[in-house]
Amino acid sequence: MKQNLFSLTSIFLGCLLHLPPAFAQNRQPLDTQQQKQTAGDDFYQYAIDKKLSLGLPNGQNPNTYLQQGLQSDYAYIETIVKKSSQNKALNNNIAKQKLQEFYLSAKSGISSYELARKIFQQDMQHLKGINNYADLMSACVYLHKNNIAKPLFSLAITKHNLSRGLYVPTLSTEENNLAYSPVQFLQANEKSAMFHVAQDITALFKLAGHASSESLAYSQTVLKIMQQLARLENPSATAEKLSLKDWQAHSPQLPWPELVSDLLGKPVDDIWLINTAYFFKLESLLNQFPLADWKVYLEYAILRNSFLNQLHQEDVASLQTKKLKKSDALHITAFYGKDLIKQTYLNDFYIDKVDVMLRNLKIAFEQQITTLEWMSAPSKKIAIHKIKTVPFSILYPFSIKKYQDLNLHSKDIYENITALRAYNFQEKLNSFHKPSEYPAPNDIANGYFDGQEIKIFGGLLQAPYFYPHADDAINYGTLGAIIAHEMTHMLDPMRKSEPTFYNQTDQDAFAHKAKELIDQYSNYYVIDSIRLDGAITLSENIADLGGLSMAYKAFKLTKQGQGNRKIDGFTADQRVFLAWAKVWKDSYIPESAASYKPDPHPPGTARINGPVVNIDAWYEAFQVKQADNMYKPQDKRIKMW
Ligand SMILES: [Zn+2]
Repeated sequence: MKQNLFSLTSIFLGCLLHLPPAFAQNRQPLDTQQQKQTAGDDFYQYAIDKKLSLGLPNGQNPNTYLQQGLQSDYAYIETIVKKSSQNKALNNNIAKQKLQEFYLSAKSGISSYELARKIFQQDMQHLKGINNYADLMSACVYLHKNNIAKPLFSLAITKHNLSRGLYVPTLSTEENNLAYSPVQFLQANEKSAMFHVAQDITALFKLAGHASSESLAYSQTVLKIMQQLARLENPSATAEKLSLKDWQAHSPQLPWPELVSDLLGKPVDDIWLINTAYFFKLESLLNQFPLADWKVYLEYAILRNSFLNQLHQEDVASLQTKKLKKSDALHITAFYGKDLIKQTYLNDFYIDKVDVMLRNLKIAFEQQITTLEWMSAPSKKIAIHKIKTVPFSILYPFSIKKYQDLNLHSKDIYENITALRAYNFQEKLNSFHKPSEYPAPNDIANGYFDGQEIKIFGGLLQAPYFYPHADDAINYGTLGAIIAHEMTHMLDPMRKSEPTFYNQTDQDAFAHKAKELIDQYSNYYVIDSIRLDGAITLSENIADLGGLSMAYKAFKLTKQGQGNRKIDGFTADQRVFLAWAKVWKDSYIPESAASYKPDPHPPGTARINGPVVNIDAWYEAFQVKQADNMYKPQDKRIKMW
């Protein structure tokens, strides 16, 4: 796991996910260890090779599914556009509602091909008023702002080495999205690559209604311009900030201050550029070709980004028949509603799941606290209040789009497409105007309670801590236990970093249990003859015990938790504990066993085996018997939470 400033800092704040620095060996010699098969003899050994299916077909990674699989998963898209939102209590379904509204307007009885042609013709209207190169650049800005096409430059809101961690609007050269980059097709295999690109461009112009000879001539024009653009590429260019005044001085013919301010929706004095030389030469590049050629190039840019091109790429049949098909509305929605689909998916598979999990964890804590024998009634009241009111800051590894302001009330599909495209660009700008809406870096897999709130970083919302398509048992045993671990830290009577709300009797009773836990963990071995220090690791062991116990109780509030369906041959309860083992098994690094240093976090095997021996449900789930190695009599199990 990548270490960085944040995760290092948070270790001192009571974090949980510092990588296990050492690999704890079981007390048995290695050869007998290999024989152990039952959960009750050594749960770590038992769990380590168990395969748990995680919900995605063919072991697909959730991250690649989100990037590539989702947009062509028509079965999923169909379920969300056709079924009305089931979970009305949650606020995250706006994207789904908008998607459904859009889908209804797409069912207006127009075929994909007819719609694609009409949208293309509408888009071409914006090139009508171009009379000089300044007009041409204004048209480019318009095409960008309305998400119609992205010719001659691309805009990203991103951060650079020199931007001091800030997200800043940045212009770079045009993305060409070709199988070959322009630089590549200028270099290797020039002839064959050129042939394919030219063929493809010619086909696009024909699709737009141009005659064959004209389409061929246009494709030659486009290629000539692409070659000139390719010559100005510089793959090693880095970002630098440029004042618009300086840019204007280099480029007197084009009104850059106005163009950039128009693009960003507010007046700005400077802009970040990647490959400044390109932008300085753009004006002379424009002058190398007549205006008519540039209009052809913009037409090509529109075509390349169009639904017409999408149909051309994937669905030749519908282009031939040009008739309305049953699936057309779905097809149109899948193309224009890409961002809405993505957000709906993120809401359904990430945000809603985590929200429900938090709600169940709070209920589980509240129910359990009322039953605790060691805690006095006044303390219970305070503890429950804390659980109910503690703010959670869940930093998702993706930006969250709300879509409240997206107006799709029209029954008119054309108006809706226009609204949706412009909205998507505005969303991009919003993230510049409101930088706090940026996603958390997803290389931080950490969480902590800082005395005020419980923070969960983006890295925890990914494997091996969270599996969006897996059954609840898996996610409660992983992310659920991690979040509950932090909630337990918050209520820990031995927490030193702030004044405690517990009275002396509570503290004494808890300290007695803590002593037992220290003894239990001090019997684990880190490596060879080095014993684990149960005192140093105490607060983490308390949090692991509380975390797993509470995650299990919260899981029992879910539908799966109340049923008894087996998956992969394991009961739901077994899966919770196996998932817990999976987290710490996957975080285990054998190399680090040699570099044991005292650390508040116990090593992997202790984290897996330590809590379960105190949880009755684990004994029941795996039918652990008195004769088993890990068995603790009921009255010796440590009940803290
Ligand atoms: Zn912790």
